[in-house]
Amino acid sequence: MGDRPTGKLAFLSEPENVEIREYEVPEPEPGAVLTEVEQANVCGSELHIWRGHHPQVKEGVLGHEVLCRVSELGEGVETDYAGEPIGEGDLVAPAYYITCQRCSSCQEGQFNLCQNAYENWSKSPEEPPHFHGTFATHYFIHPDQYFYKVPEGLDPSIAAGANCALSQMLFGLDKIGIEYDDTVVVQGAGGLGLNTIAIAQERGAETIVIEGIDGRIDRAREFGVDHVIDFREYGTVDDRAERVRELTDGVGADVGVEVAGVPDAFSEGIHLLRDGGRYLEIGNISPGQTTEFDPGSLTRSALTIESIVRYQPWYLKRALRFLERNVDKYPYEDLIDAEFDLTDVDDALAESDSRGVTRAALTPNH
Ligand SMILES: [Zn+2]
Ligand SMILES: [Zn+2]
Repeated sequence: MGDRPTGKLAFLSEPENVEIREYEVPEPEPGAVLTEVEQANVCGSELHIWRGHHPQVKEGVLGHEVLCRVSELGEGVETDYAGEPIGEGDLVAPAYYITCQRCSSCQEGQFNLCQNAYENWSKSPEEPPHFHGTFATHYFIHPDQYFYKVPEGLDPSIAAGANCALSQMLFGLDKIGIEYDDTVVVQGAGGLGLNTIAIAQERGAETIVIEGIDGRIDRAREFGVDHVIDFREYGTVDDRAERVRELTDGVGADVGVEVAGVPDAFSEGIHLLRDGGRYLEIGNISPGQTTEFDPGSLTRSALTIESIVRYQPWYLKRALRFLERNVDKYPYEDLIDAEFDLTDVDDALAESDSRGVTRAALTPNH
């Protein structure tokens, strides 16, 4: 004891109250990996937690979107979860949740629904190994936590976003099944929406985005979206549904994707689709918020609705490959528009919350 390094972390003790704490960094147990945080991004769902809106996580060490550098391997760890040899100094992207392999969801192979997924999120930082979240100088990857080596040459600041929005959208869009020449209407052009646009285009789909904030519309255009419906111009559900029909030979979109995170967007979504269309609900993540809904229209149009939370962990590997292949095609490097030191985590959260910055990054070891 005593010759272990110390590190700092950002602990949320109550809503909107973050404390920086310092702990000795413990040795990784067998099967675990100790890392240094290269970059941790402030994701929209982090803001939910920070405000106290997350149904399960009320306090704990903040942060989940991350890129890490391996500093110590626990006994028995020789490869990542795709069998790639791993060593000290390698950059890795971890899934931000645990797959315990033992709960009823894991028994069904639904690792994204693991009932112990958030086990470490709410833990007190007093409890070893202390570094339970990624808003910290160090991060512990646990024995049941998937992680993948980052492809050589992929810019770390781009790879840092892979373990959340991109993995989730790759998983979600597989579930809803985007086919070549489908028309996909995307409600919202935040991080999830931009990834949806990129993935849908890579699958040969035509894309329509509904958005009302200039900066986000600009980003969607930079990501190559085919059509924009500005809801300042198309002010009602009927206007927007009519516009979608105009853009789709009068029939409506094949696929709708809700990534606006607003309950009313869900009610609206079913009016944007063709008969037999498919709808993916992802953006609304806070239970207890309601919307008026028209089930008769759903039935008359015979729509399929899917919803997903998190992603099967191997989608993270696919996300890294997606970035590797498409990094020159889509302006992923522009998504992070502000960098903060760990000690300025309050500013990073507040400025993200007020949408003064699109995506903030913490770079605690730079
Ligand atoms: Zn996230
Ligand atoms: Zn489980």
